[in-house]
Amino acid sequence: MTAQLIDGKAIAAQIYEEIKAEVAELKEKHGITPGLATVLVGDNPASQTYVRSKQRTCTKVGFHSVGEHLPADASQEEVEAVVRRLNDDPAIHGILVQLPLPKHLDEEKILGTISIEKDVDGFHPLNIGRLSMKGREPLFVPCTPAGCIELLVRSGVEIEGKEAVVLGRSNIVGLPVAMLLLHRNATITICHSRTKDLPAVCRRADILIAAVGRPKMVKADWVKPGAAVIDVGINRVEDPTAKRGYRLVGDVDFDEVKEVAGYLTPVPGGVGPMTIAMLMWNTLAGAKRAAGLID
Ligand code: NDP
Repeated sequence: MTAQLIDGKAIAAQIYEEIKAEVAELKEKHGITPGLATVLVGDNPASQTYVRSKQRTCTKVGFHSVGEHLPADASQEEVEAVVRRLNDDPAIHGILVQLPLPKHLDEEKILGTISIEKDVDGFHPLNIGRLSMKGREPLFVPCTPAGCIELLVRSGVEIEGKEAVVLGRSNIVGLPVAMLLLHRNATITICHSRTKDLPAVCRRADILIAAVGRPKMVKADWVKPGAAVIDVGINRVEDPTAKRGYRLVGDVDFDEVKEVAGYLTPVPGGVGPMTIAMLMWNTLAGAKRAAGLID
């Protein structure tokens, strides 16, 4: 069997077109331009790249964007004051605090300062709490997990009643993606570093989500024939033939697993492009909610 490739770039491009159309309508009918603010503390080069890419995407879809850049030694009070100012700014519908923050800052407290109505990253404890409870809806769902579900849905993979195995239990990927699958009535197993016999547990999965950060860990004999495999991992491995001296691989051994799986996401070009697309989607939802157009 050769798996059907789930093309995250193409699906993200489709989502951007949908967002652009909604933005045009929002501007024309209601005079609203969705606005996203990014808060960057310090000079971490990877964080700077992510923030720039988010700002560029805002421009592409017609959003207003504001970039707040604080020095690496900014105090807890200074960062919280910036977040509170953005909370009060009616032109801003989404606030994104770029993680990781410098070590001296209390990340949990800063994320908790973001108004729940503007928590487009979905990491506010209230949003995570609602995501974890039956019959409750968060205002925003964390972007990478939401992207995983969108890839499945838009590829026609049925979730309800299926066995889903999530490899990884982090707050930003594993746990929320498991909650989202549960909301869609899959039967969930969450694996982590103490799970016994991972290959056997993974082989039960109709849907396998890999978010461990271990290059090519998931092998062909971990995968049930025909399963849908979503590879969240982004790992650098040395490659002297590559221009930058490294290349990116996922948590799944793509070449092996593509012969067994029914659906498979590549790395890069699978989940990666979906994360920013879902951030834009959340910001649009924030703007619509602020205008009273959705609950
Ligand atoms: P974390 O390091 O926070 O979590 C990793 C999880 O995997 C933990 O739950 C850990 O278990 C588990 N784990 C680690 N090693 C093993 C092992 N050998 N066997 C079983 N379980 C193991 O990572 P993240 O969730 O933040 O990220 C996971 C991957 O996804 C990374 O490669 C990251 O770069 C990528 N990523 C990609 C994004 C995208 O946009 N595509 C966005 C975010 C992340 P335990 O809890 O027991 O320690």
